Amino acid sequence: MTEKILVTGGAGYIGSHTAIKLIEAGYQIVIADDLSNASPRAIDAIAEITGTKPEFVEINLTDNAAVGQLFSEHTFAAVIHFAGFKAVGESVQLPLKYYRNNLDSTINLLQAMEAHGVKDFVFSSSATVYGVPSEIPLKETSNIGAVNPYGKTKEMIESICFDLASSDASWNISLLRYFNPVGAHPSGKIGEDPTGIPNNLVPFVMQVAVGRRDSVQIFGGDWDTSDGTGVRDYIHVEDLAEGHLKALEHLKPGCSAYNLGTGQGYSVLEVVAAASKASGVEIPHEIVARRSGDIATSLADPTLANAALDWKAEKNLLEMMQDSWRWQSSNPNGFS
Ligand code: UDP
Repeated sequence: MTEKILVTGGAGYIGSHTAIKLIEAGYQIVIADDLSNASPRAIDAIAEITGTKPEFVEINLTDNAAVGQLFSEHTFAAVIHFAGFKAVGESVQLPLKYYRNNLDSTINLLQAMEAHGVKDFVFSSSATVYGVPSEIPLKETSNIGAVNPYGKTKEMIESICFDLASSDASWNISLLRYFNPVGAHPSGKIGEDPTGIPNNLVPFVMQVAVGRRDSVQIFGGDWDTSDGTGVRDYIHVEDLAEGHLKALEHLKPGCSAYNLGTGQGYSVLEVVAAASKASGVEIPHEIVARRSGDIATSLADPTLANAALDWKAEKNLLEMMQDSWRWQSSNPNGFS
């Protein structure tokens, strides 16, 4: 049997873009997804873009027996684990849903890997593990302290991975701490497709640009930043996907965390201006009260990933907005 890469959550936003990079690099992949927050049309789009239909297994990873069966039916060389609930607000309302799903699924996966001698693991972590930044830019050694249940699941899974790697030297684990992923595949065939009203800035801005919503509410104009609006380290999903490929190729013994960001911050007003330029649409916006739980600035120091993974984010803000706009304007209602 050929060894394959298991991509959990591979029908989702970052997973699907990474699946394309893996196929293009010659890997054979199996996508495992429960489709709870993703569309089967993403799998069709991956096939259209790459000319290769990936194997797809619809599976809920909290079902331990099903995970066992998945591992007995395939021989995996490595696992890239994206699957997980990711809505910060919902995690505050329904913490048990988040702890149960994100922790159980990961533990099931790691146990199946251990049982089958698969020890190469790349995990989808998040800059949310840093909570309120102890320093800017954030380094991998900066203080950790997630402030919501979603972020805490990421932090707990990181701890599990560190403990596992200390218990058994044959594990090779990379924890990828994403900053703010935006953009879409340049084909316009896949992109972010949030359900309901988008919480994140760029999907909201794009829905205003395409006419689905009236105006962007900017949460606070009195932050301690250059123009008073919040600053984030936006990273093109294509660069992020490339980071997973590099992480896979540069896995090393133990457990290591890497920031995946550009190291360059943009304010909400700069994002809105770039989105207007990319779309050619004047985007109505108004400054309203701060959103609870927000911080002024989040910014990565990506030098560790640059050196250790031989990876660097290449795409600028305008390219991010152009690709987001191509996806949004050719699919005004996402995959539905
Ligand atoms: N933001 C905003 N309006 C929105 C959504 C977000 O002004 O409708 C701001 C938010 O306050 C933050 C930035 O945009 O400064 C990025 O927010 P997002 O939710 O996308 O990412 P996160 O806050 O998790 O970094």
